[in-house]
Amino acid sequence: MIAQSEINGIMDGYDPKRITIATLGSHTALQILKGARDEGFKNMVICKKGTEDLYRQFGLADEVLTVEKYTQVLEREFQERLLKQNAILIPHGSFVEYLSPIRIENELAVPMFGNRTVLNWESDRGKEREWMERAGLRLPLEFKDPGDIDRLVIVKFPGAKGGKGYILAGNPNEFEQKHKELELSDKEEFTLQEYVIGTRFYPHYFYSPLTDRVELLSMDIRYESNIDGIARLSYILQDSHPEPSFVVTGNLPVVIRESLLPRVLEMGQKVIETSRALFNPGLIGPFCIETVCTEDLAFIAFEISARIVAGTNLYINGSPYSQLLYQEPMSSGRRISREIKEALNLNSLKAVVY
Ligand code: ATP
Repeated sequence: MIAQSEINGIMDGYDPKRITIATLGSHTALQILKGARDEGFKNMVICKKGTEDLYRQFGLADEVLTVEKYTQVLEREFQERLLKQNAILIPHGSFVEYLSPIRIENELAVPMFGNRTVLNWESDRGKEREWMERAGLRLPLEFKDPGDIDRLVIVKFPGAKGGKGYILAGNPNEFEQKHKELELSDKEEFTLQEYVIGTRFYPHYFYSPLTDRVELLSMDIRYESNIDGIARLSYILQDSHPEPSFVVTGNLPVVIRESLLPRVLEMGQKVIETSRALFNPGLIGPFCIETVCTEDLAFIAFEISARIVAGTNLYINGSPYSQLLYQEPMSSGRRISREIKEALNLNSLKAVVY
C-alpha cells in the first residue's frame, strides 16, 4: 500500500494553480470532465484506443490521451507524465475494475480523490458486510450451508461482474442442480443471500470532510437484463422461465416518498460514521448504498459502492435533491471538483485526496 505520507509528499510538489482533473474514459467520465470544467479546472481523459472519438465529440476534455489498455496508466512513465501535469485522478467503477483495487493501492502514486484505503473495504465482501452491520443497516440473511436454504436466495459468485452469473434457488435441491449445471469446482466460493423482494433504491450521497456533511445528491434504480424483461412476461413464462440475470443495462431516475428520506439520510450518515472507526479518516466523497425497500418500508442494504456510481449520469444537470441543496446544476462529478476547489482554497487538499 502506498503510504499517505508518500502521496502527501507528491502533492507538496504540485502547483495548486495548475491542477489537472483526470479520469479514465468510461463509466462517469463525461460528467466528471464537465464538472471539472464548470469548476474552472483543466481536465484530461485517458481513453482506450477506439473510444477517443466519443470524448472528442462532446468537446469536454482539454486533453484526450489514448492507451492500448487501461493498465498502461500504472506504468512508471505514464504516471510521471500525470504527475508533471499536477493530476488528481478521479476513481469510478470502471477505473477500480480495470486497474484493480490491489494494483491501485500498491502501484498508483498519482494522487486520487478520496481515501484509497476504502478500496480494501469495498472489494472484500466479508469486510463490506462488517461495515454495513456496524453501521446498523439491515442486511439480507445469509446462509452458510446450501442445505439450510429455506427461502429464495441469490447465489453470488465472486467473479460475477455486474450481477452476471448470479443464480437464484428456492431450496437445497434447486441449488445443487444449478450448481452442478454450472460445472463449478467444489472449491468455488459463493455467498447465499436471501433474495429481498421490494423496490430498489440506489441513493447517491456525497460526504464532505470540509463541511462534515453528508449530502443526498440524487437516486436511481438500475435497469437490469434480463430480470427486468422477465417481469414484463411473468404470466407467460410461469413454468419455463430463463434463469434471471442482473446485468446492468441502464438507469432509471427515481424520487422516494418524502417520509422515507430521513431514513435514507440516516443510512448515509451511519455509513460515514462507521467508516471513520474502521479506516482512518473514513470514506470521502461520493458513495451509494444499494438497497431494497420492502412492503414494511424497511430498507435492506446489500452493497456499498464507495465512489461515484453510474446512476449519477442521469443527473448531469442536477437532480430534484441536488437542486434543493445547490442553486446551480450540481452533478456528483461536479461536486467532486467543487470539493477539490474548496480544499485548495482552504489549503487542505490533503484532507480530500489520497
Ligand atoms: P456491482 O458491483 O455493479 O454493484 P455486483 O456484481 O456486485 O454489481 P450486486 O450489486 O450485488 O452485484 O447485485 C446485482 C443486482 O442483483 C442488484 O442490482 C439487484 O437487482 C440484485 N440483487 C443483489 N442482491 C440482492 C438481494 N439480496 N435481493 C434482491 N436482489 C438482489
